[in-house]
Amino acid sequence: MYIVMVSSECAPVAKVGGLGDVVPGLARELAIRGNSVEVILPMYDCMRYDRIWGLTQVFEDLWVPHNDTWIHCSVFFGTVDDIKCYFIKPHSSENFFDRGLFYGAPDDAARFAFFSRATLEFMLKSGKHPDIIHCHDWQTGLVPVLLYEIYNGLGMTHPRVCYTLHNVHHQGQFGDQILTQVGLNPAHLMTPERLLDHSYPDAVNLMKGGIVYANFTTTVSPRYADEIRSSDLGHGLQHTLGVHHETFGGVLNGVDYNVWNPEIDPHIPHQYGPTNIEPKFDNKAALRHRLMLQDKFKPIVAVISRLDPQKGVHLIRHALFHTLANGGQFVLLGSGSDAGINDHFWELKHHLNDNPDVHLEIGYDDELAHLIYAGSDMMLVPSAFEPCGLTQLIAMKYGTVPVVRETGGLADTVFDANHAHKPYSERTGYTFHHFDNAGLESALGRALGLWYQYPRYFNQLRLNGMHKDYSWNHPGTNYMNIFNWIKN
Ligand code: ADP
Repeated sequence: MYIVMVSSECAPVAKVGGLGDVVPGLARELAIRGNSVEVILPMYDCMRYDRIWGLTQVFEDLWVPHNDTWIHCSVFFGTVDDIKCYFIKPHSSENFFDRGLFYGAPDDAARFAFFSRATLEFMLKSGKHPDIIHCHDWQTGLVPVLLYEIYNGLGMTHPRVCYTLHNVHHQGQFGDQILTQVGLNPAHLMTPERLLDHSYPDAVNLMKGGIVYANFTTTVSPRYADEIRSSDLGHGLQHTLGVHHETFGGVLNGVDYNVWNPEIDPHIPHQYGPTNIEPKFDNKAALRHRLMLQDKFKPIVAVISRLDPQKGVHLIRHALFHTLANGGQFVLLGSGSDAGINDHFWELKHHLNDNPDVHLEIGYDDELAHLIYAGSDMMLVPSAFEPCGLTQLIAMKYGTVPVVRETGGLADTVFDANHAHKPYSERTGYTFHHFDNAGLESALGRALGLWYQYPRYFNQLRLNGMHKDYSWNHPGTNYMNIFNWIKN
């Protein structure tokens, strides 16, 4: 099968969060199964160019319709860890992708709407007729709309579209001039059944457009699929998902074990696995050394997260003090775009600067993340909602016990050591229900208690997690089934 993924992120060259991991992980799995897979991305100025191999211009004159005019683009090709990637580079005064950031520009709507149109124009002009176009999140929600409203009529009748929702908290709600920008007719599309937003009158909702026009919509865990169809977590999309329920389902994300695997991880000083776990504790020493934490008999509780209200930042703060009060050490690697939250954690960092049991690293650091997964004992994920969550899956692979709020993909993948309706060998961490300090303490307190009082059981939990298979193997099969179904 010929599959083209259209995405605004692809690790390691352009990654902000989980979407960045999912695209190359799934692409590689699909390629291993004999499919021909390509990824199309914007050519951001701030990408990791050092991770793209053989970058060359392959298409010089791509003219993309934009409002009443055209924008001249070039297309580059390169491989990223063996994945074939095309990069679209517009040449215009807007400099859509030369902003030193992936997201957060005031004209994000125009940037990604343009990217969606450019992608289809590129496929048309270069004669690409994939069996499946797989697009992701609001940034590429216009791809199926454009395919069926414009490009079908230009001869692109073959591709079918799978659309994946990684987080419905961000739906891409904008003024309808965005439709005019890409050559679509607002009068035709701004209806409740199509792209009209459910809350803002006169706003277009790009994610809704993706759901309505795609041949199949997935989200990234079965629990989150239920939650967004039937509760406020759908942020207004419940009705649309209900109408399209026959072409909607949850497929749990996988983790790319070529990248996240302590047995072969080049970013950690001591490799280890479930049959040889001792070197994990040398990584703990290395982590302490790197972050200048004191070397004492204490568990390390870690957080690796975007610093966003979704991630339960007030609970992360509370967990820090709860951990210290209960004899643990605390490590945070956090990056955020919210200035208020960032400032708050900077203040906390200065306040705790001399504490030998805490290290707060504010920023994004992929290599350090590997060492933290390997060197910590517990990984905290206290999210308000979590579509899938990769942190807990990676943590389990590294024998780091997840302590998570029971929501979305966290609920699908972490089974409580005390309360899960499963044999002990299937239990993998600690969960809590109420999104408050008491809820958090109920889980974190039990985890810290087990570490101190029943180390043998704690180690068993670590191993249970390490033995789980959250690779792309199962999700790969699920996606192939979906692709085959919509192709026929
Ligand atoms: P989300 O997509 O909501 O950010 P996920 O749990 O799905 O959350 O994915 C988070 C991914 O980003 C994981 O691979 C995690 O290790 C990584 N990550 C998050 N914050 C940082 C950071 N500050 N530095 C390095 N990696 C990070």
